[in-house]
Amino acid sequence: MLPLPSASSPLDVQLLIDGVWRAGTGGETLPITNPATEGRVGQVALAAEPDMRDAVAAAARGFAEWRAIAPFDRARVLRRAADLLRERADAIGAALTLEQGKPFAQAVHEVSGSADTIDWFAEEGKRAFGQVIPGRTAHANVSTRLEPVGPVAAFTPWNFPVSQAVKKVAAALAAGCSVLLKGSEDTPAACAEMVRVFVDAGVPPGAIGLLFGEPAAISSYLIPHPVIRAVSFTGSIPVGKLLAAQAGAHMKRVTMELGGHAPAIICDDADLELAATSLVRMKFMNAGQVCLAPTRFLIARAVYPAFVKRFTDLARALRLGDGHAEGTEMGPLVSQRRLQAVEALVTEAVAAGAHLACGGTRVDRRGYFFAPTVLADVPLSARAMNEEPFGPMALMRCFDDLDEAVIEANRLPYGLAAYIFTRSIRNEALLTERLEAGMIAVNRIFSSTVEAPFGGVKDSGYGTEGGTRAILNFLSEKMISRFVG
Ligand code: NAD
Repeated sequence: MLPLPSASSPLDVQLLIDGVWRAGTGGETLPITNPATEGRVGQVALAAEPDMRDAVAAAARGFAEWRAIAPFDRARVLRRAADLLRERADAIGAALTLEQGKPFAQAVHEVSGSADTIDWFAEEGKRAFGQVIPGRTAHANVSTRLEPVGPVAAFTPWNFPVSQAVKKVAAALAAGCSVLLKGSEDTPAACAEMVRVFVDAGVPPGAIGLLFGEPAAISSYLIPHPVIRAVSFTGSIPVGKLLAAQAGAHMKRVTMELGGHAPAIICDDADLELAATSLVRMKFMNAGQVCLAPTRFLIARAVYPAFVKRFTDLARALRLGDGHAEGTEMGPLVSQRRLQAVEALVTEAVAAGAHLACGGTRVDRRGYFFAPTVLADVPLSARAMNEEPFGPMALMRCFDDLDEAVIEANRLPYGLAAYIFTRSIRNEALLTERLEAGMIAVNRIFSSTVEAPFGGVKDSGYGTEGGTRAILNFLSEKMISRFVG
């Protein structure tokens, strides 16, 4: 089990290479910081080039061993990993809150939801089979086999360090691939404990590996490496484009789950109370550091003042604090870097003419806290209306007709999520058809559902990480045309 850190035993996160937890050969580490206190709570080992070389060689061996295990037996191992993750959810959730800042209940929910993800993919692995296609003549037929694509390099972020990573790890393993994960150096401990459940459940050495280090050095080593056959990344659009270009140059299969700038359209016939309460929850979840977070609130003119007021009252009432403190509804941002980024976006929006309805400042206490912020009448020229803020800021504007709302919603190159609040079937039909988004929530917010597709369009990426097609990211289809006469 994860020892919770104390002054005498801080978190000590190591690399996993060939089934062995070890320090980097260069001896380098980075501190792990608690964003609620700015105090150091441990350290994470960083990989040097010899570590990456060993990890890739182990992934090649691990792939050969793991793919040879029958899918039913692989599924048994994965189900065991899911059970272990559930058993350890409190301890891993505690570490997650400590290094990332989200309230403890949300951290535990992330971990136990990740166990469901493993269960889902364990079962999908059993169903990854091909087809028999009738031939054009009596003596011929065609069949297909689905085969694991090979060792996978996965890169995952700090906002959901367990649930984002487990989608890649579980799907790749279920498909019969080995997987080398680079977790986020900002939040390594919970991610490492998620990986540990697979090791403890019996995934062979090398079939799963874990690296931390200089992100660009690791991606530049892994992506071109001939052993690596697929790349899966969750993170920002600029980094995603960089990695997709590298992968393209080396003809590697790619899945990209990138940022969003979700519009939330509130029609004049919406249930305003439902819209305000649901959207406040989704907006300020994880201090706004959620790729699906509603960001541009587009509100019908007739209900604009009432919606802004109710949303602002609810935002103002949120209880901020250390994620480990009783009653905390919103924790700090993950880092000083994100605090500065959000502060700059708010300052610029106000300077551009936005009206500050609430928040807008850091909170006067230790830790990377930023007050839940609502900005009304935000001009389209404000940088926050164009760049993903990834923080606790809601940007509001009103519209006169739905065409105007659709044009604004689709204006940006992002295409991840969108929200619609209306009681009209006609509005819903029109908006769900015309909005350029990979995922749309109607009169509700999203909850984790591994059984449903998860992914974006436009610059928000490609490939899905949920639903029945997600495992295909890690499978190749082989066609066999035979003469049977
Ligand atoms: P960033 O772009 O510096 O980093 C984002 C993530 O990419 C981090 O986990 C980082 O370790 C990783 N990364 C950076 N360069 C890399 C490289 N060359 N190779 C491999 N991985 C690399 O952004 P940030 O300041 O940490 O976070 C803010 C931005 O990140 C926002 O714009 C947000 O969209 C994005 N983000 C998105 C998600 C998501 O779930 N889609 C999660 C976290 C961050």
